[in-house]
Amino acid sequence: MLRAERYRHFIAYFSTHQPDAQTELHYGNAFQLLIAVILSAQCTDKRINIVTPAIFRDFPTPESLAGATPGEIFEYIKSVSYPNNKSKHLVGMAKMLVDVFHGEVPSDLNELKKLPGVGRKTANVIASVVYEAPAMAVDTHVFRVANRIGLTNKAKTPLAAEKQLLEYLPKETVRFAHHWLILHGRYICLARSPRCEICPINWFCRYYEQTHTEAALKRAEAAKAKKAKDQKKKKKLDTIAKELKKRSVEKDI
Ligand code: SF4
Repeated sequence: MLRAERYRHFIAYFSTHQPDAQTELHYGNAFQLLIAVILSAQCTDKRINIVTPAIFRDFPTPESLAGATPGEIFEYIKSVSYPNNKSKHLVGMAKMLVDVFHGEVPSDLNELKKLPGVGRKTANVIASVVYEAPAMAVDTHVFRVANRIGLTNKAKTPLAAEKQLLEYLPKETVRFAHHWLILHGRYICLARSPRCEICPINWFCRYYEQTHTEAALKRAEAAKAKKAKDQKKKKKLDTIAKELKKRSVEKDI
């Protein structure tokens, strides 16, 4: 199947079945989402949703968070990954919002990336979720699922995957496609054992085509049979070699 066809099926399926897919992080405004996304690096959304309500309550504005110390913030986030760094990032981010951006979360990708704790992925999430920009944030789920489906091809880095996705996706679908891929990766296309048998999009998935179709199963069976044959042959040769060695030892004696 051609890549353009996979894209067509991908968009058709998800825009029908998950037309309003959105982030599972809880937030009430751009500032709160920024806090949640910074915290979510290498951590689950579920855990972040547990810790953020207290932060949002006690530090409702960039000014209030900018006035806190990293040590204070650490107490709120010690159950998430990398709490030391993240508490410094949150306070630094709030200070920069106040000092440079008049307390507002910027919409421009390059300005967002200047904020402590904000890399390309986080900046893309804010741009697409808050400002509805056609920005594609590539996290581990997006990277893996896009590659398995065949939306990306030999993309070695998140940036390469992002470029390929942006090249093929119609602009108006980009911000939804990000969530489609994440949610699919979280619940169906799991990292270690993708649930291909129950996957509703397996009929246009490249990975499925390569591993589950009749031709792929025949290839796998042939490879298995060849491996067994080679092992048998090796065992036989080992036995002969042992026998020859034994005979030569007996002769020497
Ligand atoms: S068929 Fe399997 S590999 Fe393909 S998207 Fe579905 S779960 Fe993932």
